[in-house]
Amino acid sequence: MSNNVLAFAESRGGDLRRAALEAVAAARVIADARGGSVHAILFGAPGIGQHAAKLGAHGADAVLVVEHAAFAHNNPEAVAATIAAKMGAYGAFVCAASATGKDIAPRVAAKCQVPVAADATTMTVGASSITVTHPGYTGKILQTLTLTASPAVVSVRPGAFLPKENAKAGTAEAVTPAADPSASRVRVTETAAGNAAKLDLGEAPVIVSGGRGLKEAANFKLVEDLAAAFGNAAVGATRAVTDDGWRPHSDQIGQTGRLVSPDLYIACGISGAIQHLAGMRTSKTIVAINKDKEAPIFKAADYGIVGDVLEILPVLTAEVKKAKAQ
Ligand code: FAD
Repeated sequence: MSNNVLAFAESRGGDLRRAALEAVAAARVIADARGGSVHAILFGAPGIGQHAAKLGAHGADAVLVVEHAAFAHNNPEAVAATIAAKMGAYGAFVCAASATGKDIAPRVAAKCQVPVAADATTMTVGASSITVTHPGYTGKILQTLTLTASPAVVSVRPGAFLPKENAKAGTAEAVTPAADPSASRVRVTETAAGNAAKLDLGEAPVIVSGGRGLKEAANFKLVEDLAAAFGNAAVGATRAVTDDGWRPHSDQIGQTGRLVSPDLYIACGISGAIQHLAGMRTSKTIVAINKDKEAPIFKAADYGIVGDVLEILPVLTAEVKKAKAQ
C-alpha cells in the first residue's frame, strides 16, 4: 500500500475553493502519519494550473493539473474516472464533503470498489487503517468508522480540517484525462452564481444565523448588521424562515440545508431542532440567544444568552464594532 495521498483540489469558475485547501490539510494528516507525500489533483479549463503554487504553499508536495475546456464546469464522470485511474499509486483519496465532493467521493470509491467514509470530522491514522468520526442520524450520534481497504476514500466536513500555510514543493505536472471530458453523459452547461459579494456559508469563519424568534423578515437586518460588524461573517437561517420566504433557501443550514463548521456560530432566535443542529453542531464555538431558557439550542451551545434577541443583537453589534475598532 502506498503512503501517498491524493487530495481533490476543488475549483469553481477558474478559482480555487477553500475546500481544496481543506482537502490538502486533511490529506497531510494521513501522509504525515505514514511518512508519505500529498499530491493534489486540480481540474479546470486551460489556465487552472496557475493555482498549483497556492496548493504547494498549503502542503501539496506535487500538483496534478488536468486542463480541458470541458472542465470549465463540474464534470463528475470524467473527474472521477481520471482520479480512479490514478488511485493505484495512492493509499488514500481525500476531498471535502462539499456538494461537489459528495458527488466525486462515492464515484471514485465505486470505481475502486472500496467503501467511502463520508463527512468525517476527525481522523486517526494507523499504518493500514484510517478511523474517522462521522456524524450520523442527523448528528444525533457520532459514528466511528474504520477503513481498512486500500485506497481509503474519505470526504471531510467543511471546516473540520483547516487550511494551513505549510510550504511544500507544489510542483505541477500535466495529466491527461482518463475519459474524454467532452463525451460525458451529463454535461453542466451553466452554473448560476449566487450573490458574488456574499461570503459563502461553507467558507465563512463566522456565521450569524436567524430563526423564527426574529418575528419578521425585516428584523434579519439586525442579523446582517452583526455579520457586517464582524467583517468575515455570513448570514444563515433555519428552514422555518426560508420556508416562509424571509431568506433564500441557499441560506438554510441543517439536515436539508448546508452543513457548516465555522469557528463561531451565533444562533439568534433559533429553537435548536434536531434537523437544524445536524447542520451546525460541529461548529467550534456556538453562541445561542433565545428568550426561552429551556430551548434545546442551549444544550448544544458553549455560551448562552437568555433574552429578547431583538434587544440583544444591537448591543452585540455595537460591542463587536467597538472591539474591532481597538
Ligand atoms: P422555532 O422552532 O419556532 O423556534 C423559534 C425560537 O425562537 C424558539 O426557541 C423561541 O423561544 C425563540 N424566540 C421567540 N421569540 C424570541 C425573542 N424575541 N428573542 C429570542 N428568542 C425568541 N430546520 C432547519 O433549520 N434546517 C433544516 O435543514 C431542516 N430540515 C428539516 C427536515 C425535515 C424532514 C423536517 C421534518 C424538518 C426540518 N427542519 C429543518 C425544520 C425543523 O424541524 C424546525 O422546524 C426548524 O429548525 C425551526 O426553526 P426555528 O428555530 O427558526 O423556529
